[in-house]
Amino acid sequence: MTNKLEKALAEKYAFMKKGCSLSSQMKSGYVDDLYSAFGCECADGWYDLLDEMCAKIQAVYDESGREPDIIIDQIKEKYGTLRFYYHFGDDNPGIHALDCIGGPSVRFKPGKGNELYERIAEIVSWGEDRSGEICEECGKPGTIRDLMYIQTLCDDCLAKAVDQEKMEK
Ligand SMILES: [Zn+2]
Repeated sequence: MTNKLEKALAEKYAFMKKGCSLSSQMKSGYVDDLYSAFGCECADGWYDLLDEMCAKIQAVYDESGREPDIIIDQIKEKYGTLRFYYHFGDDNPGIHALDCIGGPSVRFKPGKGNELYERIAEIVSWGEDRSGEICEECGKPGTIRDLMYIQTLCDDCLAKAVDQEKMEK
């Protein structure tokens, strides 16, 4: 996602601010904060969706009167849909999902049993599902397409992607 859009999210939602950059994390020898290092690893078409997810998350905190303690670990596209990995406070699970190629993915849900955290988990799961209906490139209605890489695209962006694939062959 372009810098400008990532900044817009960070300005609207404090929990979307990035921490240490990739280069400063590299100095410590390893990269453990993928969101701060790489930002939103998806195209701009999902900006509105991410904005809506963040607004819903913020609203849950506002309603409860609590300061947001959600920490974003990684936001990326995988197998055509959005992955929004996070944890709460000091409770870093380290691992968020086990992806089995061709099989079901196992997803670990942080904050189980806590009402506020369960509501956030529902928002995240809603947003991740919804991403399969929104063109990742332009934000128009789309569907999951089986290209060289699986991507969610609208008809126009699919045509562009197919042309691109032909050129690369
Ligand atoms: Zn599109």
